[in-house]
Amino acid sequence: MTTSATATKTAYETVIGLEVHAQLLTRSKMFCGCSTTFGSAANTQVCPVCLGMPGVLPVVNRRAVEFAIRLGLAVNAHIADTSRFARKNYFYPDLPKGYQISQYELPICEGGWLEVALDGGTKRVSLIRAHLEEDAGKNLHDIGDGESHVDLNRAGTPLLEIVSAPDLRSSDEAVAYLKTLRELVVYLGICDGNMEEGSFRCDANVSIRPLGSETYGTRVELKNINSFRYVKRAIEYEVQRQIDQVESGQRIVQETRLFDPQRGVTASMRTKEDAHDYRYFPEPDLVPLAPPAAWIEEIRTGLPELPEAKRARFAAQYGLSSYDATVLTGSRALAEYYEAVVRQGGPAKAAANWIMSELLALLNADGLEIEACRVTPKSLAALFALMENGTISGKIAKTVFEEMYRTGAEPDAVVAAKGLTQVSDAGELAAVIDQVLADSPKELEQYRSGKDKLFGFFVGQVMKRTQGKANPAKVNELLKARLAP
Ligand SMILES: [Zn+2]
Repeated sequence: MTTSATATKTAYETVIGLEVHAQLLTRSKMFCGCSTTFGSAANTQVCPVCLGMPGVLPVVNRRAVEFAIRLGLAVNAHIADTSRFARKNYFYPDLPKGYQISQYELPICEGGWLEVALDGGTKRVSLIRAHLEEDAGKNLHDIGDGESHVDLNRAGTPLLEIVSAPDLRSSDEAVAYLKTLRELVVYLGICDGNMEEGSFRCDANVSIRPLGSETYGTRVELKNINSFRYVKRAIEYEVQRQIDQVESGQRIVQETRLFDPQRGVTASMRTKEDAHDYRYFPEPDLVPLAPPAAWIEEIRTGLPELPEAKRARFAAQYGLSSYDATVLTGSRALAEYYEAVVRQGGPAKAAANWIMSELLALLNADGLEIEACRVTPKSLAALFALMENGTISGKIAKTVFEEMYRTGAEPDAVVAAKGLTQVSDAGELAAVIDQVLADSPKELEQYRSGKDKLFGFFVGQVMKRTQGKANPAKVNELLKARLAP
């Protein structure tokens, strides 16, 4: 007898490509002088150019072009000799001109790649292009008066859209890629990476295909995801939805879907437009971009040290493990903090350990980043000096550090105010040792009859009576002499 109750399911492979919109850290908009400051009163940062009034002319923001080139150079992309702006035509209330100025056939950066660290090694994810464009405004439906409003402060804000090849194979890979790219744009100083404020957001193109197949399945675009957690959940939901769809004999429709974090599902927004639906044509008001080679070279020379290079240097220069180097270069600010501590005289290895355990533990508990830390690199280095010259023990240092972290006080001030100076004076310590031995006749007898382990007990008692202030090395030395037969 055979049973076919469980039909054989096909194994599927997930194919993901990401389009990231990074808002460029320029002070003014892409084609006018309006401010890009986040959170200003609605419609206070607009002018005839970004409102699309007739007869006005856009002017390209040089800084935005420089930032795009910076990214391009950092990912080994080809910087186009000539790139061109295009009008992408569509009608939506938050787009006052009726078109968005973007780039189409001739983007400023082509190709390149990003090395992404994964659990089992690294993966090189190819990039297709990175192009400049302006952002749209923002529709507001939740002001509370039951009506819809539009805030055009964001209209015209410069964006760099970075498009990856469909090289990613799981939600975890997609998240790892996004984290790497976010770290890079922040390191490059071209984007603040703030996902909550929408300055770093992504669209995910997701499809599935039978394992081993070479052709791509129909892709669905998941729009505007602005957190790593949502990217993971949205992709996972969408992949399962597509598998269910195919398994039940239905076809995948090419469409744009939105992720609803409350319900944890993706829902159809519109069936997908093709490029021809946008009726792209070259922007007639802007000449092609032709960045001079000398300028590109100047930008290349000015590139900061990139995360990968920094990690390798930290490991070599400070003798750190690759794990430690990775943690300490996790953000540019943290890396700079660490190096500042070392420059101030902090011991490289011990400072690394201290920052990763003591400092990051306190910051994590408070949900803070290193930028908010009240302990300056200089005072942390001073704390190490106090340990090294024997003023305080490592144990007391933790107490001192917690106080420094809470109040921003200098370590010597904390030590003085709390009377935490380490006791190394032989006479003072000998008195405590005598007291301990006098108070522990039973243990002393056991020790004398061969129970060596009790040595640690005596040390512990001395530390306890001195509130941890006794110099442990000195205590050991004195106690050994005192107990010698
Ligand atoms: Zn403007």
